[in-house]
Amino acid sequence: MTVRLRFAPSPTGYLHVGGARTALFNWLYVRRHGGAFILRIEDTDVERSSADMVTGILDSLRWLGLDWDEGPGVGGPHAPYFQSERLSKYREAAAHLVADGHAYHCYCTPDELKARREAVESTGGAWRYDRRCRELSADEIARRDAAGEAHVVRFRVPDGETSFDDLVHGRITVAHDVIEDFVLVRSDGHPTYQLSVVIDDVEMEMTHVVRGDDHISNTPKQILIYRALGAPVPAFAHVPLILGPDKKRLSKRHGATSVGEYEGQGYLPEAMVNFLALLGWSPGSGDQEVFTREELVARFTLEGISGGNAVFNPEKLDWFNQQYLARMSPDAIVARLRPTLEAAGLWRSDLDSARQAWMAQVVELVRPRVRKLTDFIPLLRPFLDDEVVRDPAAEAKYLNAAGVHEHLQAWRDRLASVEPFDAATTEAALRALADERGIKAGPLIHATRVAVTGQAVSPGLFDVVALVGRDRVIARLDAALHAAGVSRS
Ligand code: GLU
Repeated sequence: MTVRLRFAPSPTGYLHVGGARTALFNWLYVRRHGGAFILRIEDTDVERSSADMVTGILDSLRWLGLDWDEGPGVGGPHAPYFQSERLSKYREAAAHLVADGHAYHCYCTPDELKARREAVESTGGAWRYDRRCRELSADEIARRDAAGEAHVVRFRVPDGETSFDDLVHGRITVAHDVIEDFVLVRSDGHPTYQLSVVIDDVEMEMTHVVRGDDHISNTPKQILIYRALGAPVPAFAHVPLILGPDKKRLSKRHGATSVGEYEGQGYLPEAMVNFLALLGWSPGSGDQEVFTREELVARFTLEGISGGNAVFNPEKLDWFNQQYLARMSPDAIVARLRPTLEAAGLWRSDLDSARQAWMAQVVELVRPRVRKLTDFIPLLRPFLDDEVVRDPAAEAKYLNAAGVHEHLQAWRDRLASVEPFDAATTEAALRALADERGIKAGPLIHATRVAVTGQAVSPGLFDVVALVGRDRVIARLDAALHAAGVSRS
């Protein structure tokens, strides 16, 4: 048997990190066992679904590298993979269930139901549909249908109980007397989630359903539908929720929750995948935390998913991102940075040709100070932009410190003849100059840093100076001195 698993998002929002993790677990399981990963868009809620959201979800899945074998853009034997294009299947299935006695027409209007519910609740009772239409005679049904009375289709829940062996939570048993005769088709002819999801999972031949814990209470109802259809019941695994650091359900309050936001903030998809994989799943590998995609695939088991809720720790994500950045070649980083550099107006056409080796050195230099791709931009700016914008506070504190201009002028002249113009030689030259003039090296270093980078902090100054290059360093020192009103003697 080849495994068939699916991710079935409702396009009512962007891809949430919780949804991404569910998709990832499905994908890892399929790639481990060599089956098919199906993407199905559950867009029956027309009001709340949108094509933009579909595009956003697909883009985020692609960014994470979670490719699907059947679904939008790929097609497959069970197309279409949009539920909105499959409505007739659900109606037909519902008609069969009614004909077989597993479901029935219910003519109770929303107002009637409301009144009866309130009556029950006013005496402290818990309302479940009171099954008023469950045993209507065939004649009465025919008469009401002929009169065009609106109806929903309800499932006829049998007596007894339903059990299933959840691959994460173990055996779960639910008595049927807590399940009401739930609606399969609304009065406007639209299927409910319970119906459409089962019809599709049957037709698309799912062997496993791996989804969020929030669906546990739906599973017994869906198993009842599988049984009524005479269809094999897939294995179920319900994945615990993702909580914020305060142990409340992860939400906007905790910061970014959509995958697209993390992409925009400069996280690497491989770091995100590694981080999400370990959110509630244990590879049972001792201390190892950084896994290649192949390693994750090779180790993934549904049994390794923890039954407890997982806590989303953004600092851990940053840590993973740094781990991945540290392992990438500078050239690979430059390739990833290119769109961001272009957007910032910092891309130069020779950065991946004539100046490729130089750019690699610059990336190596700033990499230890970076957590995500976007952090590179301000750090790379002094190397890529000819114009330096000086931070006024840094300028006031270091560049315009008492007495510094005169020394800076001498240092500028010294730099003009330093040979070779590298980190070691420029550093030796600055220290020798400071000795000659009887001053400390520190103030001169700080002032030079502000002139060359515009900032009060930077990687090692002499490495920066060497990579920015003699002409630009001298031009920036001149510009800083000029701005301070120092004229050449
Ligand atoms: N469309 C459902 C959701 O987004 C999927 C439910 C399921 O996986 O069965 O929650």
